[in-house]
Amino acid sequence: MAGFEGRVALVTGGSRGIGAATALLLAQRGCDVAINYQRNKEAADSVAEAVRAQGRRAGVYQADVASASDCEAMAAAVTAELGAVGILVNNAGVGSASVGQPRIADMPDSDLQRLLDVHVFGPLHLSRLLVPGMRVLGRGDVIMVSSVATQGYGPRMGVYAIAKAGMEAMAYTLAKEERQYGIRVNVVSPGLVETDMGKLLVSFARGVEDIRSLDPASPFGFVCQPEDIANAIAFLCSDEGRYITNQRLTVNGGGF
Ligand code: NAP
Repeated sequence: MAGFEGRVALVTGGSRGIGAATALLLAQRGCDVAINYQRNKEAADSVAEAVRAQGRRAGVYQADVASASDCEAMAAAVTAELGAVGILVNNAGVGSASVGQPRIADMPDSDLQRLLDVHVFGPLHLSRLLVPGMRVLGRGDVIMVSSVATQGYGPRMGVYAIAKAGMEAMAYTLAKEERQYGIRVNVVSPGLVETDMGKLLVSFARGVEDIRSLDPASPFGFVCQPEDIANAIAFLCSDEGRYITNQRLTVNGGGF
């Protein structure tokens, strides 16, 4: 896969799970990588070490993507230290279990606001800050990491699905607005993935304490791994993905 050499990628939520796998894969392909985290500096530092071990530059940036001022400071620091961002992966996220999976009819505004802040306002802040810089690079990529929650709208997933649906609406609109500048905007939608969030979800919703106990019932005999999502993201940002924009790539083994 070509088209990564000399590009700078910012991966939000790059300290763990899907974001960590994406940061490392983009570095393996040739990107310098900015790794955003909210709380877990140690994990972000270890991803940065792995990026540097690939011979690429890495920076670690603390920012709550829900905060416009944190995003402003992060965008300025990344641009000053690594250069203009050509790949923005809006991956940072929190799941429905983090607010107790409220039903719509019982949902406090504060629960929905919390998820909207992270999944909608985070990508909005960063698009506003970084997309203008992409317009002069000749190629830019924005990836929104959504979820199959917007395809099933299952009970008690509403708080999360509403936020991810907002994120997707932003992606499809942005794709049309920015195509003239060479910017591709795509959505990657995972099903269940073995990460801290995936483990919390199956424990909270289904009482499953070992996510790998779901392997036999999963497509292809294993629970999706973070690297499977990273591969889809990298493909969309590669030369091979140059004619793909305004699309949703679902990575869930074909569903259940
Ligand atoms: P994870 O392992 O729980 O990691 C979440 C990451 O997001 C961490 O790096 C965390 O930083 C960061 N983060 C959370 N809130 C943040 C904020 N306000 N500002 C900045 N960073 C923040 O999650 P994951 O499973 O890799 O999820 C990644 C994305 O995939 C999410 O958008 C999620 O909705 C989506 N997704 C996941 C699954 C799944 O089954 N795992 C399925 C569908 C979609 P710290 O390390 O500092 O806490």
